[in-house]
Amino acid sequence: RAKQKGRNTFCFYDSNMNDEALDRLKLEEALRHALVRGEFQLFYQPQVDLQTGVTSSVEALIRWNSPERGQVSPALFIPIAEESNLISMIGWWVLEESCRQLAVWREAGLTGIKVAVNVSGRQFLNHALVECISDLMTQYGVLPSQLEIELTESTVMAEPDRAIEQLTRLREIGIQVSVDDFGTGYSSLSYLKKLPLNTIKVDRSFVRDVNNQSDNAAIVSAILGLADALDMSIVAEGVETEGEEIHLKEAGCIKVQGFRYAKPMPAEQLATWMQRETM
Ligand code: C2E
Ligand code: MG
Ligand code: MG
Ligand code: MG
Repeated sequence: RAKQKGRNTFCFYDSNMNDEALDRLKLEEALRHALVRGEFQLFYQPQVDLQTGVTSSVEALIRWNSPERGQVSPALFIPIAEESNLISMIGWWVLEESCRQLAVWREAGLTGIKVAVNVSGRQFLNHALVECISDLMTQYGVLPSQLEIELTESTVMAEPDRAIEQLTRLREIGIQVSVDDFGTGYSSLSYLKKLPLNTIKVDRSFVRDVNNQSDNAAIVSAILGLADALDMSIVAEGVETEGEEIHLKEAGCIKVQGFRYAKPMPAEQLATWMQRETM
């Protein structure tokens, strides 16, 4: 296929190619240049503790400010980057940028903040991952307790044995790992038990209207029970309403993330947001 060819050889547009395939190829090309052109940016979304009101962690979410396309959603370009080699380049950039930002915040007196970084499957299974993270931590003076990794269920379960190996190495250097979008993939419960994971992130689809939808309430309660049994902590994603918050709090879910508290924002804005929050 032309797309396949485009990865390693020169790209050319085949006149038989349909519009969709052509769009994709163009997007892939634009992505290839986005990094050197400095078009990526990290936004940060607070994760709030409902009991104390304190924000001790933020999730780093990539943004692509394309001069031609405007702001492109990661939901659109990350899957395309994952199918090509581009995700490795982007993934390393995200890790380095997160560490660099932690150093900037530290200099500004904003300590005790932790950044959760989304890591794709290909990057997770890369043998160099752990060493690369260690090097970045040394270079930027970042402590293991300031960095967390988010992996989706499918990333973890694709090659469970290698995942165990890699997770164990991450644990050895003190990096915590969350399972993202939990409940939307195919987790094998017997593997989940064996995996050294710290946190389950309850997918937004189960949080939505959890106070009115009994099926979602049942799922959330089951996930909370599972986390408890496996000694893992919980973060509920995509909390938007007071009703959802009250339900979650009563169900025993303490850590939340969602538009109700804050949308993902640039680093400078987060510093201001954090200061206002603690006043
Ligand atoms: P995710 O890791 O599950 O991130 C949560 C997504 O939900 C983010 O979308 C966030 O903006 C959105 N969100 C948070 N709270 C709410 C809410 O209350 N309501 C609604 N409707 N949405 C909410 P975003 O930033 O568009 O990212 C989408 C996905 O793209 C992420 O899902 C993640 O899978 C991927 N992604 C983002 N940044 C990176 C990255 O740096 N590396 C990798 N590999 N993937 C990334
Ligand atoms: Mg995530
Ligand atoms: Mg998620
Ligand atoms: Mg998601």
